[in-house]
Amino acid sequence: MDCFSVADLTVQRVEEFVDSTCDPMMFFPDLTPEIVARNLDWIAPRFWNAERNTISITMQTWIVKSKHHTVLVDTCNGNHKPRPYFPAADQLNTPYLERLKAAGVSPEDVDFVFCTHMHVDHVGWNTRLENGRWVPTFPNAKYLFAQKEYDQYLPENFIDGKAPLFMDVFEDSVLPVIAAGKAQMVDGEHQVNDSLRIVPAPGHTPGHYIVHAGSADETALFIGDAIHNPIQIAEPQLSTAFCTDGKLAARSRIRILEDCAEHGHLLVPTHFDPPHIGHVRRKAQAFEFLPGR
Ligand SMILES: [Zn+2]
Repeated sequence: MDCFSVADLTVQRVEEFVDSTCDPMMFFPDLTPEIVARNLDWIAPRFWNAERNTISITMQTWIVKSKHHTVLVDTCNGNHKPRPYFPAADQLNTPYLERLKAAGVSPEDVDFVFCTHMHVDHVGWNTRLENGRWVPTFPNAKYLFAQKEYDQYLPENFIDGKAPLFMDVFEDSVLPVIAAGKAQMVDGEHQVNDSLRIVPAPGHTPGHYIVHAGSADETALFIGDAIHNPIQIAEPQLSTAFCTDGKLAARSRIRILEDCAEHGHLLVPTHFDPPHIGHVRRKAQAFEFLPGR
């Protein structure tokens, strides 16, 4: 689903690449062969490669256009960035900006950039390399960041003197935006414009946010990494090895799923395989995923 509408918003998808090598047993530490077996009939082959026992992580940005604003939700990995610990994203050179242009968006057109959190695959295109320096890719945009997310990267907040995950990402994809005066820090709920509200959904990271977009009648939730793979809809207890607080992440995930099931909100995660989006309804003790618009 590369283009759809929600209330008076137009939503488009721009893909950076697909990493199809992810080992779910490593990714979800509490996953067991029994949990996989009881879900395989609906997750494979669409969302699960049962032969290789791998899952795919689609790297994509959602463009949300309203009458007055063009907003990017999450900015993938970015080009030319050294990521030795993540070979699939190391020194990328993808035509991401050309794809954005094909979707009708030049860098100058972007009014807001919103990163659900500061992990490597969500802030990359915030900056691009220009004469050996990282500069904001979207010169006219206001970049919205969670204050809590930012705070964890300050040396005085390091736990046991240790920098958090993705300090290098913070330095090349967040700090240059702040230095250029283009960042706005937010705390708690924040109304971006008439049709976009950002809401904390912590756990995956301390300052992880989601976006409520649309109207009272029709709403889409852009949920970032609150859910990585559809199996977490049926098994919402499964958090990832990269969550800073797995239990809190599960609570945030369940709240999102309840909200979607109760109100019919469209679920728009960052990493799902095609059709990338869907609805949710209650099933037994958990939820069922209904892929598509
Ligand atoms: Zn992610």
